[in-house]
Amino acid sequence: MTSSSPEIPEILLCLAPELRFFVAPARRAERTPVRVDGVSSLGHVVESLGVPLTEVGRLLVDGREVPVSHVPAAGETVEVTPVARPQRVPGAPLRFLLDVHLGTLARRLRLLGVDAAYESTDIGDAALAARSARERRVLLSRDRGLLHRRELWAGAFVRSDRPDEQLRDVLGRFTPRLAPWTRCTACNGALRPADKSAVATRLEGGTRRSYDVFAECPSCGRVYWRGAHHAQLARIVDEALAEFGAGDVD
Ligand SMILES: [Zn+2]
Repeated sequence: MTSSSPEIPEILLCLAPELRFFVAPARRAERTPVRVDGVSSLGHVVESLGVPLTEVGRLLVDGREVPVSHVPAAGETVEVTPVARPQRVPGAPLRFLLDVHLGTLARRLRLLGVDAAYESTDIGDAALAARSARERRVLLSRDRGLLHRRELWAGAFVRSDRPDEQLRDVLGRFTPRLAPWTRCTACNGALRPADKSAVATRLEGGTRRSYDVFAECPSCGRVYWRGAHHAQLARIVDEALAEFGAGDVD
């Protein structure tokens, strides 16, 4: 019996090139036959191959768009497109929640003024997904199991394990509005200007003598000033602004 035998109910799945990365090497051809059971939804079929639905744009059956709840029938040809870029997430201001592995990305997003909550301890998938739903935050993760959770408000798979590439991936996908130097990189609080006299006791002598423009985080009390140690951060800011401008989504 061959895989094309009429006794085996199959569909022909055409994954967009951007999505083939998620599936087993043997399934990375332009078209791959997939067995169906006449009960499972197309969303389930796609997910069970390893593709998070957060990464899927449209599902087309013989050229006609269908919802993820569509139950595919043998003989159908199903085209799966990637999520559109830039991606819009309607229903709430654009803000993010990052899992325990994405601390550097969280700090870089905050540096650019993007609202990026981050769990520095592993609170578990259920709690993370619940927070995404409660606060309407887009969950960023490299964990596909986490992105499969139904209760997520929205989610996105972060492809690279390198912070530079992760940042470009997220900025290019969601085009958040950028407002560098306005957010606390330590806790995500919104910074406010601070009088030197008000923060002087929290500064070392050299800093007190050398700088006059300060900001403080009302959430954690941290004080910020523009100093020589910002060269590396300034590079990140300059590169983001050069490539993505000020962004466009609040
Ligand atoms: Zn803070």
